[in-house]
Parts: sequence; C-alpha cells; structure tokens
Amino acid sequence: MNKIIVTGNTKIREDHKRIILNFIRKHKTVSRTDIYKMTHISKPTVTRIIEDLLASKVIRESGLGDAGIGRRPVNLELNASAYYAIGVNISKRALNIHMVDLSMNVVGRKTVSLNFICNNEQFIETLIKAIKELINESRIDFNRILGIGVGARGMVNYQKGIIVDFSPSRTLHNITIKEHLENEFKLKVFLDNNAHTRVLGEYWYGYGIGYKDVVYIICNEGIGCGVITEGRIVRGKNNATQGLGHMKVDINGRQCSCGSFGCIESQCSTEAIEEIAKEGLRRGRKSILTERVDRDYESLNYKIICQCAEEGDLFSLQLLEEAARYLSTGISNLVGVFNPEIIILSGTLFDASDFFYQTVVKMTEQKIVSPLARDVLFKKRRISDNLYEAGAATMVFRDFFKD
Ligand SMILES: [Zn+2]
Repeated sequence: MNKIIVTGNTKIREDHKRIILNFIRKHKTVSRTDIYKMTHISKPTVTRIIEDLLASKVIRESGLGDAGIGRRPVNLELNASAYYAIGVNISKRALNIHMVDLSMNVVGRKTVSLNFICNNEQFIETLIKAIKELINESRIDFNRILGIGVGARGMVNYQKGIIVDFSPSRTLHNITIKEHLENEFKLKVFLDNNAHTRVLGEYWYGYGIGYKDVVYIICNEGIGCGVITEGRIVRGKNNATQGLGHMKVDINGRQCSCGSFGCIESQCSTEAIEEIAKEGLRRGRKSILTERVDRDYESLNYKIICQCAEEGDLFSLQLLEEAARYLSTGISNLVGVFNPEIIILSGTLFDASDFFYQTVVKMTEQKIVSPLARDVLFKKRRISDNLYEAGAATMVFRDFFKD
C-alpha cells in the first residue's frame, strides 16, 4: 500500500496536499522554497506535507537546484510510477485499453475487437474481461491504480457515465459503463465523449501543454471535435454538441446520415470521399484508381486514393483537394468562433496523406478572416501515438490532482 498518508486528516490538509502535488506536477522540478513562495502555504505545512509525500514515494528528490547565493536547494519531482490509471478508448470497431503512469507513459495495452458485439451485456462483459486481463498482464499493484477513464464515440451522458447512443446501426444504447465498472473494480470511473477525452489528454500531456485555448479535430469515418477554452472543455447542456461533423458547408451538398444536406461529414469523411470517388469512376472518370482496384470499385478505399494522389493521379488529387476545401471551411469557421491558439488534427484522413494535411492547413490559414486569429498553430497527432488512445486516463489524473 502506497496511498497518501493523511495525518491530521483534515480537509484543509488534504487540499494543501493536492495543491502542492499539482504544483510539482505542473512545474516538473521545484524546490521547497518554490512551493511555499508560489502556493502561499506556510513553510512548516509545506515541510510536513513534503515529508509525507517523500515517505509514501509519491515524489522524490532529484538533485540540487540553483540558489543564486547560499546553499543550493534540493529539487523535488513527481515519481511517475507512484500511481497509474487505465485509459479506455471505445471506437466503432474496437476497445483500446492502456495502463499509464502519472507521466502518461504506457506500461501495458490491449486491443479487443467489437465487431461481434450485439448487445449491452456482451459489450460490458468484453470491456470488463479486457480490463482484468490488462491489470494482470501489466503486473501493477492494484492499490496504485487510481481509476478508469473511458472515452467513447457517439452520444455520452458524462455525469451519469452512460453511453446513450453508441451506434445507430446496432442495438447498443444506454450502456451503463460507470455503474458496471465501479461495481466490478471498486475504482473511480469517468466517462466522456472521446473528442473531449482527446483534447483533455493533449491539454495535459500533449501539444496543448502551455495553451489555454485548444481545438482538437478527429477525421475518420465520422468527424468530430473537442474544444478547450480558458482551460475548460466546451460542452452544451446535454453534452450533445454536434461539433464539426454536422456543420453545414454546402447547402446544395450531399445528404448526410443525420438527414440534412452538405454537412462536413457527408462531404469529406473517409466514407464520403470513397463514395464520391466510386461515383466518378462509374461515370467514366479517367484515373489509375480503376486499374489499382481491378475495376472492383467496392474495394476502393481512402488509403488507395491517397497513394494514387501521391503518384500524381489527377482525379485522386482533385478528390483530396475538394475534401480539403470543405474541411478547411469548417475549421476556419471554428477558428472564427473559438479563436484557438493551437489546432490539433488527427485521424485517418491526415494519417494516410501528408498532402491532405498540408492542403487543409494552407486552405484554413487562407480562410481565417480576423488578422488576430491568424497566428494559430497546427499540429498533427498520429493514430499510432500513445496519446491518441490513452488520453482518456487524463480524467482520472485530473480528479486526483483536483485540477
Ligand atoms: Zn449531418
């Protein structure tokens, strides 16, 4: 057992402990003097709490700092392996589960297919089994695991911890994730939409560090976004903001799965680009795509289109440019509303084609109207990066550090 020892057991003392721990987390390496000067907690209290934290190995000493004049102070830093959290990302076809330490280093991972899941019971059973296996395989002392953070696609009730609507095409509705996982593991469980968990992960551990206004965009079969302004996740009354996917970018555009026309998702998701390509080829557009799929247009996919674009195929290049035109319109509208400092772009759309990423960035920059918003920074988050799937664990650490 290495849980924090709370002597005195008062709420104030516990609050002070969290403030000090969070200060060390944020500043990476600090001295005792830095802590009591910056947190305004009295010197004796800081000293006592630091001794507790050192004894329970939550922090450690890390050499000597600069003193200017006099004795050099001993630096303190967080001991990343003091605690762990489990981050679960639920996408359309798979569960990706990671065990991470306080610095978001991955110490275990597991991927389980969701293709054969037909009902809520099977879903929960599969999730619990996979988490149990991960805990066993990663050989972490269970007492060091602070909780489970779950990011899920679809509509999510984050207060109650329920996935309201996972996939309209499957009978998976009202999945009570939080209740089931808390009962099973007796750990704190947090659930949110995975656009929110990803932007939170970036804000704490990724490209968003040091910024207050961050936009995160995911482009796969669906298109979504998570927004942090002034350090807080932007969400509506029911956490049901449609984000970017159903923003209208062409009133005469293609019909969307939502029933409306010209949504970003119906113009430039991977599925939409594939459909537009197939329609063009069937109408007789000349392209090396035809021989690449041996005239079997159903086998055409976004990655093949990207490869052909790279080889200079005019039709493939036009498909990507057209999609980039719609997407950049949507992103520049977001910039107009939220005025972010940084925009992180992720998902298959960008992973499969650097040309597409560069084109979207260039077109977005050209469309930003306000000169004040033009210095926005763009970054690409790759699907293979740990943070793409593991970021949901950040919810657990946010609760632990009371940030
Ligand atoms: Zn739509």
